[in-house]
Formats: sequence, structure tokens, C-alpha cells
Amino acid sequence: MTNFGLDIWSNKNFIIEDGQIKLNYKSMPSLLKIAQDIRSKGVRGPVLLRFPHLIKKQIRSLYWYFDKAIKENNYKGSFNAVFPLKVNQFPHAVEAVTAQGKEFGYGLEAGSKAELILAMSKTPEGGNITVNGFKDKEMITLGFIAAQSGHKITITIEGLGELETIIQVASETKIKVPNIGIRIRLHSAGSGIWAKSGGMDAKFGLTSTEILEAISLLREADLLQNLTMIHFHIGSQMSDIAPLKKALREAGNIYAELKKMGATSLNSINIGGGLAIEYDQHAHTKCHNYSIEEFSSSVVFLLADIMNSKGVGHPDIFTESGRFIVASHAVLITPVLELFSHDYQEQHLKIKSKNPPLIEELLELNMLLNNKNCIEYLHDALDHMESILTLFDLGYIDLQDRSNAEILVHNIIKKALYLKSSTPTDELERLQEKLQERYLVNASIFQSLPDYWGLGQNFPIMPLHHLDATPLRAASIWDITCDSDGEIGFNQERPLYLHDVNLDEEEYYLGFFNVGAYQETLGMNHNLFTHPNEYTINVNDTDYEITNEEESKNILEILSSIGYNENEILKKLETDLEKSSFITEQEKSDTLAKLDLYIRQNGYLRTTL
Ligand SMILES: *Cc1c(COP(=O)(O)O)cnc(C)c1O
Repeated sequence: MTNFGLDIWSNKNFIIEDGQIKLNYKSMPSLLKIAQDIRSKGVRGPVLLRFPHLIKKQIRSLYWYFDKAIKENNYKGSFNAVFPLKVNQFPHAVEAVTAQGKEFGYGLEAGSKAELILAMSKTPEGGNITVNGFKDKEMITLGFIAAQSGHKITITIEGLGELETIIQVASETKIKVPNIGIRIRLHSAGSGIWAKSGGMDAKFGLTSTEILEAISLLREADLLQNLTMIHFHIGSQMSDIAPLKKALREAGNIYAELKKMGATSLNSINIGGGLAIEYDQHAHTKCHNYSIEEFSSSVVFLLADIMNSKGVGHPDIFTESGRFIVASHAVLITPVLELFSHDYQEQHLKIKSKNPPLIEELLELNMLLNNKNCIEYLHDALDHMESILTLFDLGYIDLQDRSNAEILVHNIIKKALYLKSSTPTDELERLQEKLQERYLVNASIFQSLPDYWGLGQNFPIMPLHHLDATPLRAASIWDITCDSDGEIGFNQERPLYLHDVNLDEEEYYLGFFNVGAYQETLGMNHNLFTHPNEYTINVNDTDYEITNEEESKNILEILSSIGYNENEILKKLETDLEKSSFITEQEKSDTLAKLDLYIRQNGYLRTTL
């Protein structure tokens, strides 16, 4: 039996009970039951489930550990956090973030004009707004409008040009000037596969010379009192905490220097995002090496240390961690449509009344295989297989014999794997890999796990049921796009084993976990597969409630979203059919009705019940 690394990646969000994965919260519903509930209403294709309680858990934990560190270090500044919208802008995700974050004064971060408008309309009262990314005069003016409308907003400048624009807008209007932050260009870089945001060659931030220049520009324009924040972001999914500490020392010293230079309103350090979550299902390939507790206490301790030694007051701390907050809240669930080695199942055997001797022997090995003899019998079977293939090449046995032999040997290997599953030999492990099974899932990797496709980012994958049985098939996952990149291959480093199921008799559902950060907006409509049906699941003490259904775009909608004229397409299809000669009027209207139904459903497959 295996728990699919649940103890490594799930942060106790899920547990396995009665062979199923369940939410480790309140009434503890099983994911399978929720999925079946949804499918009982006729929904097909992949579904994305959102669990707001998991967002709440992350927000709480962020604030709780920083508060703890602040108390322990006798830190004088406050802790503030904002959610970076780019991590997930979908309405029901943002709704969950703002609803769950309200009591903490959790705010929003915007990196573009559209995100800023979203932040201005969705930030809960009392929450901060921070603005990063490249900005034009319009975007900066929007920042002024936000300040004028009563938001606690800080616009972080990424370069001197933006500061000049702020000064210009301030001189042209009488509306409120927002707080100004400076993003510093670190000489230290981040870690992990997203570490491009830090370092001397980083895309963003001011060098030390530019910072000095910024201070004099602000002073001249009489805006120095609006400079409140120093900001940096060393990149997403930091694998190690050491680069953060370096960046903090750098930022902390810059802060202290600027305070001494007369930036009296400067009062906060924004440490950006980058808090990692665990995606890996194997202890030896874990993708980060620190906890939220270590993270928060390191930040608070270091800042206190720097400020104390420089004789400067403790700054308020801002974080913009996004992945940490939302990654775990969403789970993609999809049925398996097909196992490709289905053909090797015993039911396909067509044993003749008279068989070649080697086949007779295989039949016997298959029948008599047991725990004691299985390695020996396995070796015999593999040996026989070689001989049978040679006999086939030489024309001594026919295709039916060969097929029977392949099924029998396949079966013998599977039985041996099963019998030895608790003590597999190297040889068995190698065979297991060779016997890789391909699981075809009703989903698109491009749409739902784009970071796997683009960056090789792993996501935890596990079946929702059968968890009281040992999974024995080395698995690769195939999606239904017709692109060979739509595959999660078997990886020896982090092997995934799934169950041998007969899909003619039972269903098999897989869950893809930690997909709540970045995947949804990065997801693309490759092959015109669209964002899956999504649901918010509110778990309570006795049950759960399925709300916020957002249906996947139907075929007409997706075509129209890329610029086709829905009516034109519909009309063309219908008139072509109308013109054709049907035997009966009934048949004609039935066919038209079918067409109309299909075109108004999403494009995922509807094969499974
Ligand atoms: C992307 C980004 C974040 C969020 O990073 P996470 O790794 O998701 O925590 C925070 N701040 C800035 C400036 C960003 O660009």
C-alpha cells in the first residue's frame, strides 16, 4: 500500500480512510463522493474543485506565524499581507481570498491595469493595495484615483521613468498622491526554477545609484513624504531560504540608509512573494527545505537585527506570497478513460484445443504461480516468451498463439509483481517500468497543468479510491489533446504507480493536487479544450455544499471567443443537414436535435458514465 506521498505534500489537508482520499476537515467528505455528486447531474469531463477552507488555513497560518515571530523578537513593526492577483484572478478564487482574508486586513497586489481595476473593486475595507510591474501614465493615474477613492495604495516604481511620471501626474492634478515604493535591484539572486526575478541582471528594480537619484527627484518634487516602502521579490517557489536572507540583509540596509538620509516617511519593507509549497510526492525530491515558521522567524529576526544595529526603528513588514495562499485550494479531478494495455487482459485469451507446448507450459505457470515459486516461474515465462517470438518469426506458430503468449506472460509478470509487492527485487522493478501502463485522462495538460508542460513542474497525482490496494502499474498519464506533449511520462526519479483496474467494470478517478496557483490563467485552449467546469465546495460539520458552478465553455462559445461567428457556424451546419435527403422527417429532426445538443456542450469526452 502507498499513500502517494500524502504526508509530504498535503500539509494534512487530506487523509486516506476506507480506501478513499477525504478532506481532513469537519465532516470529512471523500473527494470521490463530491465528484460523483457533481457527475450525477450529467456533468462530464474534468472538474475543478475549490476549497475555501484551505485558503483560510493558509492565510491564518501566514498571519499566525508572523505574529508569533513578532512577539518572540519583540519586534515593533506590524505585519501586512496582500494577495498577488496574477496567481489566480478567477472570480471564485478571488472571492474566497477576500472573504477569508477580511478579518486579517488581507489586501491585493496588482501587476497590470486590469489587475489594478480588479484590486480597486475587490479589496476588502482596510486591506492594502500594492502595485508592481511596468506602468504607463494611465496606470499611474489609476493609482492616484485609487488613493483618492480611499484605498491604502502603494505604487512601487520599477525604474526612474515611472517616478518621473508619478511626479508629472502629481503636478498636473490635485487628486491624492498614493504612497510610493521603490523596488530594489538585488545583487543576490533567488533559487528554484523561477529565480529570474532577482539578481543584477533582473528584469525589475533600481540600482543603488538609481535609488539615490530617486531620493533627490522626490525631494525636489516635494514628494519625499510619500515614499513609504522598499520592495523586492526574489522569484517564485524559493527552494531554499538562504537567498531570501541575503536579499533581506541587502534590503534592510538600504532601508536603514534611506531613513538616515531623511526619508522620514519610509516605514515598510515589502519582501514580495516566493514562499514555496511542496509539490513533490517523494521525500528524496522535495522541492523546498524550510517551513513557514522558519521563514517568518528568519524575516522578523533579521530585520530586527539589522535595524537594531543601525539604530533605526523596525519597519512594517509586507508580504506578497501568492502560491503559498492558493495552490492547495484547488484540485482537478478527472476519470480515466482508458488503459492502453487493456488488450493484455486475461479475458482476451483464445486458447485453442491444441496449443504449442510452450503455450501449454505458460498456461501451467500462470495457473500454479505462487509466492514461493514466483521468481522462478517468472524467469521461465520470460524465457518462453523469447522462444515464442523466435518461433513466430520463423513461421512455426500463428498470430493467435503469439497473442495468447503475450497475454499470459503479461499476466505472470503482473501476478509476480503483486505477490512480491512488499519486497520487490531489482529485476521486478525493472519489469514494472517496462510494463508501463498509459492512463488516458479526460483532461488537457495544456489547459489544466500548463506548468508541467512549460516548466516541468510536478503536481501530486493520486487516485481518489482503491487506496487500500497496492498500486502496481508504473504509470504514465496521457491527456486527450492530440499533442504528444500532452503526457506525463513515467519518471524513475519520482515514480508514479497506479492501480490495475478493469474500466469495463468500474470507474477510476485521478486527482491532480495543488493546482490553485498560476495554472488557471496560464492554462491555454490548445485543441480548443477550455477551462473545466468548476465548483466551490463549502464543507460544514455534517455535510458539504456545492456552490458557484461555472460551466466549461461549450463548443459554440469557445469558437466565438476566438472570433468566429456563432450564428454563421450554426446556420451552415444546419442548412447542410437540412439540404441532405433523410429517409424520414423524424430522423431529420432527431439528427438536428443531436447536433444542437453536442454543439452546446463542452468539448471534453463523454465516454464514461
Ligand atoms: C509573482 C509575484 C508575487 C507572487 O509570488 P509567489 O511565488 O506566488 O508567492 C509577489 N510579488 C511580485 C512582485 C510578483 O511578481
